[in-house]
Amino acid sequence: MSLSPGTRWVIHLPVTVPDLARARMLARTAARALASLTRAVDTGEVTVSEEDSQGVRHRVYCDRLLPGGGRCALPTDHLVPCTRRIVRHQRNTLRFR
Ligand SMILES: [Zn+2]
Repeated sequence: MSLSPGTRWVIHLPVTVPDLARARMLARTAARALASLTRAVDTGEVTVSEEDSQGVRHRVYCDRLLPGGGRCALPTDHLVPCTRRIVRHQRNTLRFR
């Protein structure tokens, strides 16, 4: 069986966390970690759902289309203007530009 190079798949990875905010946080962390290993991960399309309501998906990244191209790389509930880059200044500290 051969697959088209453009075939998209979804990995479902159950986790146990107290709420949606922490589920989004863990999903962003997992997506960034995987994206650092392979370009096959589309971090902007990452969603989370409750196990018993998998049809109700919550985005974890804004992913809004930006003027001039590209997508917003900030979390879905960000309060600052959209941007396409996340800049790391110190270990465990993210800054947005
Ligand atoms: Zn945004």
